[in-house]
Amino acid sequence: MISLKNGDGIQWPEGKRIAVMLTFDFDAELLRYSVIGKRKIGFADVSRGQYGPKEGLKRCLAMLQRHQLPATFFLPGEIIEKYPEQCREIAAGKYEIAYHGYDHNNTIGIPEEEETGNLEKSEGLIQELSGRKPVGARGPLDALQEYSLDLFSRRGYLYDSTLKDCDWPYVLENGLVELPTDVAVDDFSYFYFSYADEAPINCSYLPDDVYAMWQDAFDELAAEGDKIMVLKLHPQLIGRVSRIAMLERFILYMQQRGAWIADCETVARYVKEFYRVKESETK
Ligand SMILES: [Zn+2]
Repeated sequence: MISLKNGDGIQWPEGKRIAVMLTFDFDAELLRYSVIGKRKIGFADVSRGQYGPKEGLKRCLAMLQRHQLPATFFLPGEIIEKYPEQCREIAAGKYEIAYHGYDHNNTIGIPEEEETGNLEKSEGLIQELSGRKPVGARGPLDALQEYSLDLFSRRGYLYDSTLKDCDWPYVLENGLVELPTDVAVDDFSYFYFSYADEAPINCSYLPDDVYAMWQDAFDELAAEGDKIMVLKLHPQLIGRVSRIAMLERFILYMQQRGAWIADCETVARYVKEFYRVKESETK
């Protein structure tokens, strides 16, 4: 299904060394419902997810505004219905808003008609919120079906950012750009906490330890020169004071060392155009 025909070797605009995308999956308590199951999750655990809309999101937006940074917000449709005020703030900041399922449930195994229904509902809500339909998608809980990437392409999407197969962007045969990410640059891997039996408890990391890991990854990828780094963040996790301060320091570090920080749509358009020109030159 996936074609790697475009391979490697992209050059970033203005001699930048790496493309960095700040992506925020704003899924509040829906993340916890989908990881553990709605009936098993305690009232207090729900409130950990609500820290995103009540507190964390404001810090994320304030930090982005302080440094005039672009970002992409992946919003499940149900979050737009549940937290309209917070979502309007995201839209007012002109940040890119992308598809992240409707109810954030794990969609593995659902028929195409059901996922089409999720897309229709969420696209309508995003259109109402921001004035335009999303051009990017990320599966909730990283769930994609065999048909998903073709379905996104048929519905006019420009890119997906769910896969984990490499550190560089590529164009699929159906024209969709893939912007891979990884659990190593996902705050969930370090800061998610729950008392529920089946849930991972990752909260033992110091922000400085995470900073050090991200910095090492950034330095190596930037040195390779044709790579991307898609930071995957959740306002309920990264929005705690010491963590957002760490993220801010890390962003400034990257800016000083040749990072092209852009939203996913901008990078995906650049990638598509770069390979289109490259292909036409080799014909
Ligand atoms: Zn999510």
